[in-house]
Amino acid sequence: MSFTLALVGRPNVGKSTLFNRLVGKRLALVDDQPGVTRDLREGEGRLGDLRFTVIDTAGLEEATDESLQGRMRRLTERAVEMADVCLFMLDARQGVTPADEVFADILRRKSEHVLLAANKSESNASDAGVYEAYSLGLGDPIRISAEHGEGMADLHAALMPLADGFDARAAAEAPQVDVEVSEEDEGEDAPLITRARPVQVAVVGRPNAGKSTLINRIIGEDRLLTGPEAGITRDAIALPVEWNGTHMRVFDTAGMRKKAKVQEKLERLSVSDGLRAVKFAEVVVVLLDVEIPFEQQDLRIADLAEREGRAVVVAVNKWDLEDEKQEKLAELKEAFNRLLPQLKGAPLITVSAKTGRGLDRLHDAIVRAHEVWNRRVPTARLNQWLTGMLEAHPPPAPGGRRVKLRYMTQVKTRPPAFVIMTSFPEKLPDSYKRYLVNGLREDFDMPGTPIRLTFRSQS
Ligand code: GDP
Ligand code: GDP
Repeated sequence: MSFTLALVGRPNVGKSTLFNRLVGKRLALVDDQPGVTRDLREGEGRLGDLRFTVIDTAGLEEATDESLQGRMRRLTERAVEMADVCLFMLDARQGVTPADEVFADILRRKSEHVLLAANKSESNASDAGVYEAYSLGLGDPIRISAEHGEGMADLHAALMPLADGFDARAAAEAPQVDVEVSEEDEGEDAPLITRARPVQVAVVGRPNAGKSTLINRIIGEDRLLTGPEAGITRDAIALPVEWNGTHMRVFDTAGMRKKAKVQEKLERLSVSDGLRAVKFAEVVVVLLDVEIPFEQQDLRIADLAEREGRAVVVAVNKWDLEDEKQEKLAELKEAFNRLLPQLKGAPLITVSAKTGRGLDRLHDAIVRAHEVWNRRVPTARLNQWLTGMLEAHPPPAPGGRRVKLRYMTQVKTRPPAFVIMTSFPEKLPDSYKRYLVNGLREDFDMPGTPIRLTFRSQS
């Protein structure tokens, strides 16, 4: 799952129709547990060779007194927060309406990547509406018909370069396409964190690790139930909170877990809840129980968080129960390095959710991981660094022909992804790639975030 696409627009433009077309029957995240509050529908979308998460802001009934406009605006803002790309949809038969302009305005202000789709364009009667759509200043409209499946190739073509940027690793596996990185590149002098949006945090871990206790601590009020019984019914999903001056939205996976009698079912559920939270999160706190740390389930979710490109902080809870703290810490660090080498450099913080000890350090680790995850390194600095790395350890010369690493640039953030233009990229051994990734992590001080590095051929 390389990126998240939100379908945005006023009611009746065809969002649900497109959602159904992209997702088909693969509503991956349907929850068979009754009573889970959800107001954004999401599914696993496919378009050609692209795989992504689709969020639909339409068609969900919510019991609220809010006006339709207010609700749509709020949902849109939330979807924008969660998504990498927003597909703003219009009804081309109607042209641009005042309501469309309201949405366009939100998107221009809040979303980094917006694509514009003029839906219902299956007939020439829509031409005028398509031309009008140019006036929104959101780029060229893509003509589609969600109902008839037209324009899907154009939509694919528009998503492709973005998807490529969002997951440089996936792009390396897909057929090579030339991607223009220049637009992304312009942002290199941008401040480290460009938007003061809440940091999206998920606390994941096995049942009874202390997730609810920790979240209660963070929230500072006893809004969630806690107790020794695993799997108490709770409903909260995302909890907005200001913690030590940082705005966060904390996803309570325990709260999404429903009453389950059978332990096995519970385990399965908490894993899938964890997966879901990981997808929404920017920073994933993997909460371990000091008495049973690094369980299979913990390892799986930590690995998933890394593969999904999330910043990761490992927190070891119930530290108050530990007598031999020094020894235990050494043991934990050893286990961490051995069992989760893919998270090299991620912080390991000891906490007690019960007493509150260590929570300030946890806060700081989250903020820092988030900052690093968003970091952009200027191209000039990268290339200076690359030159130094090449001089210190030249790449191998298989058959007497040295692999040339010519030019390096950061193609995206969240997490940081870099591309190096290379002759014979396939000849570069993994050990050399690791040398570069580890060097990037150390020299640019980027702990706790996955780093993506791909090599593109340029002979
Ligand atoms: P939403 O409120 O934005 O989710 O819109 P819906 O997906 O529910 O669609 C609203 C109406 O527009 C429905 O009657 C759809 O059948 C219709 N519709 C959706 N896409 C198209 C299209 O490409 N062409 C035409 N003619 N109608 C469409
Ligand atoms: P969850 O299933 O991960 O949400 O775990 P809970 O928050 O419900 O906690 C499970 C049990 O562990 C409860 O009995 C908590 O009181 C206990 N617990 C949570 N944090 C700590 C801690 O820091 N120290 C100790 N000693 N117990 C804790």
